[in-house]
Amino acid sequence: MFVITGPSGVGKGTLIRGLLEAVPELELSVSATTRRPRPGERDGIDYHFLTTAEFEQRVRAGDFVEHATYSGNRYGTLRSELERRLSAGVPVALEIELQGARQVREALPEAVAVFIAPPSLEALRTRLVGRGTDDPAQVGERLRTAALELEAQPEFAHVVVNDRLGQATEELVRIVGSGLAR
Ligand code: ADP
Ligand code: 5GP
Repeated sequence: MFVITGPSGVGKGTLIRGLLEAVPELELSVSATTRRPRPGERDGIDYHFLTTAEFEQRVRAGDFVEHATYSGNRYGTLRSELERRLSAGVPVALEIELQGARQVREALPEAVAVFIAPPSLEALRTRLVGRGTDDPAQVGERLRTAALELEAQPEFAHVVVNDRLGQATEELVRIVGSGLAR
């Protein structure tokens, strides 16, 4: 199992698209969230979109491996997303924020965790604004969270700086390749 973490807008989704092309046997776990779908996002494919009541009910039922509150919304990895793949021997990647990555590290220390870092906070701002999915208040909140998240880099054995996309993708593919070969 592979955990890809790092601040919002750093390029996790973009890097993972390249990773999945290079390592086709790897599958991405579909997270649950209470955030509203962005235009073009599909339920069950991009996220399992849940109401807050549904999410909390599933927390109580023990359905999550990890869950966290991020920018006022709930996000979590469903046990079912992992179990059916791992029991079939299919490697799985999680794309999650820092609090969740820490929970997974506690629960499943054998997972390979990778922190994706931006070249600078200014570059991160440019990417968040350029993506155009978050209003200015959301961008500000995500940048404040990012500054704190970046302090967690020393906790991770693998840190990939996403400066040039091609080079960062290659590095991520190499880390995952070594993990699969273990
Ligand atoms: P995340 O999934 O971490 O929130 P995204 O993959 O959505 O981040 O990327 C945020 C924005 O940054 C997107 O518009 C993406 O095209 C852009 N981006 C990703 N990687 C790079 C890079 N190496 N250089 C410049 N822009 C990038
Ligand atoms: P977004 O709203 O941009 O899709 O995601 C916001 C943040 O939540 C990102 O940092 C993303 O990695 C994280 N996230 C997505 N799914 C999960 C999850 O299942 N668990 C946790 N802890 N974070 C998640």
